[in-house]
Amino acid sequence: MPWRGSVWGLLAAAGGAALTFGWTIRWRPGRLRRRGPPPLGLREVLDLLRQAYGASVGWGVDAAEGAWEVLDGPDVAENRRRRGAALVQLASVDGRQHVVRDPDATFIAVGDFPYGAGLGLDGAGHDETMIEAVAQALRRFVAGMRLAEEQSAVPRARVVAGRVARLVAGAQTLDGMARATVELGEQITHRAVALVLAAVDSARIVAVSAAADRRLAGLPLSPESPVARAVATGIPVATRGNEDVFGPGVPERRRSERAGTAYPLMDGSLVVGALVLLGAPLDPDAPLLDDLGPLLSDLGPRLAAARAVHDAERRAVVDPLTGLRNRREFERALTAYGPKSSEPATLIYIDLDHFKRLNDTLGHPAGDAALTHVARLLEIAVRDGDMVARVGGEEFAVWLTRTAAREGLEVAERIRRSIAEKPLVWSGSSYPLTTSCGLASYPQPIGDLLNLTSAADAALYRAKELGRNRVEKAGSGH
Ligand code: GH3
Ligand code: MG
Ligand code: MG
Repeated sequence: MPWRGSVWGLLAAAGGAALTFGWTIRWRPGRLRRRGPPPLGLREVLDLLRQAYGASVGWGVDAAEGAWEVLDGPDVAENRRRRGAALVQLASVDGRQHVVRDPDATFIAVGDFPYGAGLGLDGAGHDETMIEAVAQALRRFVAGMRLAEEQSAVPRARVVAGRVARLVAGAQTLDGMARATVELGEQITHRAVALVLAAVDSARIVAVSAAADRRLAGLPLSPESPVARAVATGIPVATRGNEDVFGPGVPERRRSERAGTAYPLMDGSLVVGALVLLGAPLDPDAPLLDDLGPLLSDLGPRLAAARAVHDAERRAVVDPLTGLRNRREFERALTAYGPKSSEPATLIYIDLDHFKRLNDTLGHPAGDAALTHVARLLEIAVRDGDMVARVGGEEFAVWLTRTAAREGLEVAERIRRSIAEKPLVWSGSSYPLTTSCGLASYPQPIGDLLNLTSAADAALYRAKELGRNRVEKAGSGH
């Protein structure tokens, strides 16, 4: 049964009670608000109280939501559970303290509409001091429930939520949203901020704010890092002093930036990622936590939605093996060029030579590795903004806009040479690869964009016929 409201307010309220009994709650983030079933929540805090006072059973209730939490020790009789539950329900409605002494149990319940909490102590004859101590702990607990609920309505929280909503509406992409998020985080906290997103088996830093070390952006995190732990468990993790919140293997940085606090971002019960505040942990009473709380609770679902869109869009346009654009995306780019057709453009088709042999001798996985290897070399050989696509099994296309034949020929030669010079390394051995390239340029010599692909195809065919590992260009005859 999910509980509404915040675990943090509860922890803050119960922390005092727990400390009285010699426990330390190391992490006490104070007034943050979260959504969804909290991984460490009311249940756990109530159970702490139950154990602290040696109670066999504990109850928490939100009468407005009709939500109950019942925690049992071993062998609790059903009638005892029901009796205590009725008492807590009564307290949640009338707001009073109730104590009932049965021959074999003592029930204590307190309430503050619509919240109530109670404990059932084994046996009779508990003295007044003990009962008052339990009642006081329960009142704190109930106050924490209310505090958490009220925070969701404070105007400051709405202001921040509004800023998040605008920021998200303004961001067109997941990347844009990530960048806007860290800047807003920095504005609110005056700290360097990083955003980490969870993936299937790892977490990665996707954006850092202006005050943070740029080198952090894009880094994958080790599963042992404190941030990855926060992402795996959904519980905030803070490090102090020299302990790097991003774990081992990240670039050496300013000492003051190694410590940090990772606040998980939740979408329901799923952890989407974490917002990381660099520097020493925040004081749990710091007023800025009032602003940070709504930011965190708003971001989780929004980032999750943005990422779902991003992933779907990516799957539609990207070849999963090489990460290059797929054939459909290549065709779309070619068609889209039509209206701007006063500019020259060059198309290069690239086909691996004797690729079947490589597959046959080394196996399919080696063939796949060769395709990825070639894909990286193609990306290096072209400018940002040029398109590299995998258009067939071992066939690639490079689409160079604003590029006439002479310049396009240079690119094609560079591609051919770089692939020939950088062999595939597989199982510790090198295997040379070569490619044949066919090139066609618009509007010279190919005057019609619609003929460009067939002209490049014919040129590629000629490159194969003339011995492979060479570039051929379409002539005006096409
Ligand atoms: P040529 O120099 O004439 O191009 O010779 P080739 O062996 O490369 O001939 P062709 O282009 O007809 O062969 C393509 C081969 O590419 C067939 C297939 O075994 C291999 N291939 C196609 N797609 C993939 C893939 O996704 N992974 C792997 N490993 N191999 C693939
Ligand atoms: Mg082929
Ligand atoms: Mg081939």
